[in-house]
Amino acid sequence: MSILGAVIVPHPPLIIPTVGCGREREVQATIDAYRTAAKQVAAWEPEALIVTSPHQIMYTDYFHISPGRAAAGDMSAFGAPQTGLTVQYGEDLRDEAVRRAEAAGLRAGTLGERDPALDHGTFLPLYFLREAGVDCPILRVGLSGFSPLDHYRLGQCIAQAVEALGRRAVFVASGDLSHKLRDDGPYGFAPEGPEFDRQITGAMAAGDFLQFLTMDPALCDRAAECGLRSFQMMAGALDGLAVESKLLSYEGVTGVGYGVAVFTVTGPDKNRRFGEQCEAMERTRLAEKKAAEDPWVKLARLSLETYVKTGRRLERLPEGLPAGMTDRSAGACCCPTWRAWTRWSGRLTSPGRRAASAPERSTPWSGSRWCGTHDLRAVFSPL
Ligand SMILES: [Zn+2]
Repeated sequence: MSILGAVIVPHPPLIIPTVGCGREREVQATIDAYRTAAKQVAAWEPEALIVTSPHQIMYTDYFHISPGRAAAGDMSAFGAPQTGLTVQYGEDLRDEAVRRAEAAGLRAGTLGERDPALDHGTFLPLYFLREAGVDCPILRVGLSGFSPLDHYRLGQCIAQAVEALGRRAVFVASGDLSHKLRDDGPYGFAPEGPEFDRQITGAMAAGDFLQFLTMDPALCDRAAECGLRSFQMMAGALDGLAVESKLLSYEGVTGVGYGVAVFTVTGPDKNRRFGEQCEAMERTRLAEKKAAEDPWVKLARLSLETYVKTGRRLERLPEGLPAGMTDRSAGACCCPTWRAWTRWSGRLTSPGRRAASAPERSTPWSGSRWCGTHDLRAVFSPL
């Protein structure tokens, strides 16, 4: 068996009656949809749940997966200590997922746990699933500072582990949407907030997981989104699978966006390998960018790439450089990598000052190598 389906659910503590104390009725549509989604998960009769949460401990360069046999949690941080639950962890699924992640070159594992208690991003879905009668071992996974594609790849590794063990599994992607929907909301308003929610709920409704991977990072940042990386990992777990997508509800009345969606796997579909599609798009983007580079930027790139690939300096200039570039006095006063950096980043800076502080600035190509390997500001992505 593989992944049977997935749900996207939010995690406002308010929707638990002992926390909301009546206020939960403000988001009744979300609660109703949550129960519908939980019923669907129960109908799949899962033997394992994969639960991702943005409020689990998060590292910039590591995916933390909860260690141990079990964990407990409650709503005491939200005024309802009487509402609690415990869960068992699926240890064999975890071991297999970590093994496959490591084999895929992803930094993921059970190190670095600070607090074993269930965070509210994990607790809320489990609360509603328990209410619907779902009680099975979970794989509890945190997010990271890695790229969207790396979150997707970890989802693929988890799906492969599920398949290897022959489990009936459901992916539960916990995540709120924008926190910037209303002036009177807890985080205020930004125009990017409603725009983010419009795009992400459109992608949920259409099952367009490529959109999860290609959202504009600046838009996501200004929208103060919560759960996108959860959704990206879920998309990876459903890589190459056709799904029937249903957006059950969307509300933003509290100033935070809550979306509930269900994705039922209906069979294989090679056109839904969104990780591969995303990589192909990135290759095309970089090729176009490279093709548009001027000779200075080309030289900077060649110098840096030569050093990174071979560990050696670029000793000879390539043929056919425009007049003036081979003039040492003209080159020495302006580091090409720095020029490249400012062109790519759009920043205004002082190349002369940077060049003056670099120890090897006798030639433009050595200056670019120095900046690229010593100055963090010049470590640009398309190496
Ligand atoms: Zn959140």
